[in-house]
Amino acid sequence: MTEINISDMLTNYDKKNLTITTVCSHSSLQIFNGARKEGFKTLGIAVGEIKRFYDAFPLGKPDEFFIVDNYKDILRYTDELSEKNVIIIPHGSFVEYLGAKNFLTLDLPTFGNRKVLLWESDRRKERKWLEEAGLTMPQEIKNPEDINQPVIVKYHGAKGGKGFFIAKTYDEFQRRIEKNKKFTIQEFVMGTRYYLHYFYSPIQDNAYKLSKGSLQLLSMDRRDETTIDEVQRLGSIAELEELGIHPTFVVTGNIPIVMRESLLPKVFEMGAAVVEKSIDLFGGVIGSFCLETVVTEELEFKVFEISARIVAGTNPYISGSPYSELIQPDLSTGRRIAQEIKYASKKDLLGEILS
Ligand code: AMP
Repeated sequence: MTEINISDMLTNYDKKNLTITTVCSHSSLQIFNGARKEGFKTLGIAVGEIKRFYDAFPLGKPDEFFIVDNYKDILRYTDELSEKNVIIIPHGSFVEYLGAKNFLTLDLPTFGNRKVLLWESDRRKERKWLEEAGLTMPQEIKNPEDINQPVIVKYHGAKGGKGFFIAKTYDEFQRRIEKNKKFTIQEFVMGTRYYLHYFYSPIQDNAYKLSKGSLQLLSMDRRDETTIDEVQRLGSIAELEELGIHPTFVVTGNIPIVMRESLLPKVFEMGAAVVEKSIDLFGGVIGSFCLETVVTEELEFKVFEISARIVAGTNPYISGSPYSELIQPDLSTGRRIAQEIKYASKKDLLGEILS
């Protein structure tokens, strides 16, 4: 990875005129809205054209658009963008479409620690990180012939759950697997799903205290996935599978949710452990991250994935969640990111939260 030097990138910046910038998709309405609430200028990088729907949401519309033909073009315009004092807020679509390698070398100040991508996008490293932090992950089945319980088969690089399938036997696996693709097999964990949205600040001590900085829980959601979440309307999954209709896991939206209050200590223990381990491994996961979990009937958490930036599951909470309301009224994740940048800028600590 080419080492990007954050202080070099910030040298010519007018720190009083920072522009919060992201690609117009995913959680951009929330990011622009949060930045606006904190008094920042905003810039939306629009791919191809400006989407008309932004006009219908004046409080989520960026002050200015910057049009590129495709995501990769962003790399060609870094000089123009840095003249506008942009701070890039990466989101899932941004990283995916720009490509991980390009994202790592993007010569613009970016919120969070980019090194996290190397740990998050490699399933072996992700497991090492989370398990060494003491979290329980679903069991991995290395040899498909050992399938003797419901499993979920995940293709590498498949985003939004596309192509994932459930198998209950080796035979079923063989019938469904696409041979030319890389995959991982995990125990299908029975329980209820909670996607936990944390915010870690390495520079502020006013929340759940860690060895350095502190941790907040801003919200949680449950993803709405088609067809698995609605398929039962047509019949039992077993019945449908006999007809060759298999459930899929494509994310179409997000549903707000809260959790039994008695589980919150565990939620914080897990978040804290993930941050502390990340500090040892690569200097820390900074800002927003999400643990994707299933809670079993024994009330145990199994964590099947981590996303180390703002996730779309925070979108139901533009005007705050039942958790963030207990921190500050009207606090979205987008706004919390803007606050962190504002605080760091004022204290001359931008180097601690940007990379
Ligand atoms: P992922 O891409 O890993 O976030 O998985 C996509 C979706 O598959 C999740 O949102 C869950 O609904 C489901 N899923 C993933 N892993 C598991 C698992 N081990 N057990 C049960 N459901 C899972």
